[in-house]
Amino acid sequence: MRTDGEPTAAKRVVGVVGGGIAGLTAAYRLSQAAQQQNLPLDLKLLEATDCIGGLIQTTTENGFVMERGPDAFITIKPWAFQLCQDLGIADQLISPNPNFPRSFIVRAGKLYPVPEGFYLMAPTALWPFVTTPIFSWRGKLRMAMDLFLPPSVPDTDESLEDFVVRRLGREAFERMAQPMIGGIYSANPKELSLKATMPQFLQLEQRFGSIIRALVETMSARRAGGVRYSIFRTFPAGMRTLVDRLVQTLPSNSVQTKTTVIGLRRQQGEDGGQTLPEWEIHFDDGQSLAVDAVCLALPAVQTAKLLTPLAPEVAKLLKTIPYASLATINLAFERSQIGHRLDGMGFVVPAIENQSITACTFSSLKFPHRAPEGKVLLRAFAGGALQQDLLERSNPDLLESVLSNLRQLLQIEGNPIFSRTTRWTASPQYHLGHLDRISQIETGVSKINGLELAGNAFHGVGVPDCVRSANQAAEAILRHLFS
Ligand SMILES: Cc1cc2nc3c(=O)[nH]c(=O)nc-3n(C[C@H](O)[C@H](O)[C@H](O)COP(=O)(O)OP(=O)(O)OC[C@H]3O[C@@H](n4cnc5c(N)ncnc54)[C@H](O)[C@@H]3O)c2cc1C
Repeated sequence: MRTDGEPTAAKRVVGVVGGGIAGLTAAYRLSQAAQQQNLPLDLKLLEATDCIGGLIQTTTENGFVMERGPDAFITIKPWAFQLCQDLGIADQLISPNPNFPRSFIVRAGKLYPVPEGFYLMAPTALWPFVTTPIFSWRGKLRMAMDLFLPPSVPDTDESLEDFVVRRLGREAFERMAQPMIGGIYSANPKELSLKATMPQFLQLEQRFGSIIRALVETMSARRAGGVRYSIFRTFPAGMRTLVDRLVQTLPSNSVQTKTTVIGLRRQQGEDGGQTLPEWEIHFDDGQSLAVDAVCLALPAVQTAKLLTPLAPEVAKLLKTIPYASLATINLAFERSQIGHRLDGMGFVVPAIENQSITACTFSSLKFPHRAPEGKVLLRAFAGGALQQDLLERSNPDLLESVLSNLRQLLQIEGNPIFSRTTRWTASPQYHLGHLDRISQIETGVSKINGLELAGNAFHGVGVPDCVRSANQAAEAILRHLFS
């Protein structure tokens, strides 16, 4: 506490640009530190649209709770869960329905359960693997060869496709790894860097010599069909709860929506013995804001635009991170319209099946409170790097193609009660060389005082990864300003 005669420390101002989960978390961490450590810090969160949350968008209509973007986060990467704990909302979190801990995969236009014990690309349980119709006998034998193949040279940046084909064969890749893993990243697996996305598989290969042996040894305690559903969490009212709580905790007037940042300028110097703020942030309405530090929590292409005059080399590298477009289509049905038992969380569709959808979540079966009694909410995905052309269709045409797939796969009769299509150009593609590119970007940014980057373009696309990047950005800014 200040005593009389002690000079008042000048307030430092931080501008956080981008109101997605990364920007919100950075702003929250900064304001939390200011409160807890009594730091003289003012904060502005600047968001281009009229809506905070970025890709996290939950809407409720007629009793259906629809996720337009993420529908849950994982807890094995602890940062999002930790954030919920710090916000005092962790006790509200819910897990997927334990009655249906499995998903399906499409083969020849039909749904089959992912064999029990199968983890993303390889089996860990013998009998379900031997009996599944998802793979041919030849494919199964080729997968078993993984037990005898030597490991690769460590530290190579191999694509997901090359890795899986080398270890487990083409069929394992086409029928399982492509839809299961490529789907998470909306990516072309031929270009997706395994080291940047799933480095654990490379480490397991080096340690155990075989992916199957590694998974059997490390996963035997937690078997499940495809993924471990108990690691997912969301809120009864959807992911929006996290965004709303973050906004609630920020100081009043610190969040400014409908403000597109179009320029960043560094200014240095002193005015009458006072150190000037180092940065000026320029908005699209001609206004500007002087700040001492900036956190850019934006898609890479937006960050690149702002950094072009300041750090052209960094901007050039940021521009090389491509983004894929995708659409989510929420569809509301009467339960009686759907012939399938819906006894799972949803299904994925291998690209070789040539369907219009890449996956579909049985949203109201996966989580409670998503649809009124007697009704069902489905969420289909379309697009991604392998099917960009599909997104050139109009919304009604896209919906018709999606519905024709769903009618056949889930034995659906008639039209949905309603549907909502959301289009995103939002999936950063971690192509081969991604980690080297990011390391060069980070080296470039570290030379610019008072600038930090956060968000999904760098070290992981999941909500927990974005939270972690924001934690780190906030810590770096606090160090810069107050130590
Ligand atoms: C369909 C879909 C489903 C997903 N599902 C999951 C899931 O289930 N679990 C999971 O963990 N992850 C999931 N993800 C990934 C995860 O949602 C995202 O990676 C994460 O939300 C990105 O957060 P962010 O803050 O980095 O970026 P964003 O959410 O994109 O936020 C960036 C913000 O910056 C704003 N902005 C842009 N330019 C400017 C500017 N010039 N000035 C001011 N503001 C600007 C934008 O309007 C936006 O609000 C999913 C992603 C998608 C697209």
